[in-house]
Amino acid sequence: MMKQVLILGAGFGGLELAARLSADLSDRVEVTLIDQNDSFVFGFSKFDIMTGHSSAGALRSYYRDITKKGVRFRQERVTSIDPGRRQVATDRGTYQSDILVVALGADLDPAATPGFVEGGHEFYSVAGAEQLEPVLASFTSGKIVVGVLGEPFKCPPAPSEAGFVLHDYFQNRGLRSAVSIRVICPFGSPVPVSAAASDAILRGFAERSIEFLPGRLVTSLDPAAKIAMVKGGPNVSYDLFLGVPVHRVPAVVAASGLAVNGWIPVNPANLATRFPNVYAVGDVTSAPVPKAGVFAESAAKAVAADIATRLRGGAPAAAYDGSGTCYVELGDGRVGRVDANFLTGRNPTGPFFGPSLELAGEKAAFAATRRRRWFRG
Ligand SMILES: Cc1cc2nc3c(=O)[nH]c(=O)nc-3n(C[C@H](O)[C@H](O)[C@H](O)COP(=O)(O)OP(=O)(O)OC[C@H]3O[C@@H](n4cnc5c(N)ncnc54)[C@H](O)[C@@H]3O)c2cc1C
Repeated sequence: MMKQVLILGAGFGGLELAARLSADLSDRVEVTLIDQNDSFVFGFSKFDIMTGHSSAGALRSYYRDITKKGVRFRQERVTSIDPGRRQVATDRGTYQSDILVVALGADLDPAATPGFVEGGHEFYSVAGAEQLEPVLASFTSGKIVVGVLGEPFKCPPAPSEAGFVLHDYFQNRGLRSAVSIRVICPFGSPVPVSAAASDAILRGFAERSIEFLPGRLVTSLDPAAKIAMVKGGPNVSYDLFLGVPVHRVPAVVAASGLAVNGWIPVNPANLATRFPNVYAVGDVTSAPVPKAGVFAESAAKAVAADIATRLRGGAPAAAYDGSGTCYVELGDGRVGRVDANFLTGRNPTGPFFGPSLELAGEKAAFAATRRRRWFRG
């Protein structure tokens, strides 16, 4: 009897898991992969969209192109999850599974921050980056503030990367001297796991006159006065405010009873939830790793190994290592790499390499490899 595996969410985590189950277990499992969208877009592509370097359409990988053996994709919106029964309802039907994996990511909640919807812009969703593009294009002078509105948030280096992206954008338009750029971040350093990466970012900021304000969170905006209220420091004025919105689990996850204190708790060794035969991977969890695609991917690898051991028997799967190779934009087309590992040693580690043009090529290859692995049979 083939086991029915139901994966909710076809982002970094869901796509990686479907690909691994297809490669390793297609004689034992049938996989149904559900997502409300018709296509996948890498998180880092939003910088290309907001700066007009690329359209969202050109960056999309369409789920209809998935040709993985034993995997069927359904474009449907998940409307309820019963983790005890492993039953899921969508806007099109209902599903019963033997193994359920929740990979629904983190939703953005711009309205959670007073004044932000009226007075700010976000670059964390495709729609937000698209709306920001003409705003940036018509901005010719003044104060830009990039601010984080809540923790945890996806891709800890992203606010700092936005600083470099904005510098290059205005430099290329000959407007850099007319624009000031500030990055407000809740961490004490740009990439807490890597002192070397943080140093490289701060050096780059100093060379480009980008101001970094650590240990602070923006709590609200006064759109009329154009002032951002800052917890942990003085309030700052802005002409253009780019915010990283408050994150939360999708409403359907909150209603399911899976989340505790905001996120789904999992066994860090194998990403199992407290419900039998229900796993959760990626941003939707409170696993002790940052919210980033590469950790969703490594978590999916651990879940695939755990399922394989359970279905085939044999030696227990290795515990999840919490590893991820993070590429960080450092301006001028250069990229740095942090080989982060959160769970193997006593303390998290993050050796840093670069920045270089070679690593920019490696990042492009990273994306191309995923597109092939996730979509081609
Ligand atoms: C600007 C920016 C830069 C980034 N840069 C990087 C980077 O360089 N490296 C990196 O590793 N990470 C990066 N990230 C973070 C990365 O994009 C996310 O952490 C990653 O996508 C999380 O993977 P996931 O599988 O947990 O969730 P997601 O990839 O978000 O996938 C969740 C999926 O669930 C679907 N879904 C949600 N609710 C429902 C529902 N009710 N019904 C059906 N489907 C639903 C969504 O449509 C989505 O496709 C960046 C993010 C941003 C915003």
